[in-house]
Amino acid sequence: MTTKNEPDARDFERRPGLALTELAEDAARCRDCPLWERATQVVFGEGPIDPLYIAVGEQPGDQEDRAGRPFVGPAGRVFDVALEEAGIDRSTVYVTNAVKHFKWQPRGKRRIHDKPNRSEVVACHQWLDAELGALPIDAVVIALGATAGQSLLGPSFRVGKARGADLTIGPRPLVATIHPSAVLRGDDDQRDALRAGLVTDLRRATTLAREDAPPNVVAVPIIEEMSP
Ligand code: SF4
Repeated sequence: MTTKNEPDARDFERRPGLALTELAEDAARCRDCPLWERATQVVFGEGPIDPLYIAVGEQPGDQEDRAGRPFVGPAGRVFDVALEEAGIDRSTVYVTNAVKHFKWQPRGKRRIHDKPNRSEVVACHQWLDAELGALPIDAVVIALGATAGQSLLGPSFRVGKARGADLTIGPRPLVATIHPSAVLRGDDDQRDALRAGLVTDLRRATTLAREDAPPNVVAVPIIEEMSP
């Protein structure tokens, strides 16, 4: 017997996308930290159910919060281009965030990103952990930025030290890099170097990925009827 917040292993065996769909539905009801109150909706991970890569960012941004989908804003577009430059097919990447609700501060009529604090990251880790539990154990985890790395590996994680290091999380290889938003925040004379560094790190991830045919691309969350 499982509680409402736990994926059912029998469901996952029959239909892994169903486990992720149920997790997304449960996360939409989460009230375990204050961030849900000011967000439009939960933004759960999405992508193939058999990804070669699991990319973890910080939190949804303004556009993701409105759309209910991760990595669809400006930083997501930087990430898409970097993936292409690194030779990674976007359809082989499951994308998610360490924190599932948008944290922001008002500035005039705009909603400005506000970094989640440690207690919010810790509260939300349950959902990231559950996603990892429902995804293949040989997918390469890509930690995009400090918040993702600290959620995955603990508060002592530092991007600068972790880049290029041989890291693992459980049975999976882990590649640490900057968050794509760092490219957008960089000065004009820094931006090319930041983008190039991101691509270099993503290329390193390709050397750690399993070799197989492109996965069955099934976007999640998708609700499907289970076989009788
Ligand atoms: S940010 Fe995470 S822990 Fe906080 S309410 Fe949302 S889903 Fe729950």
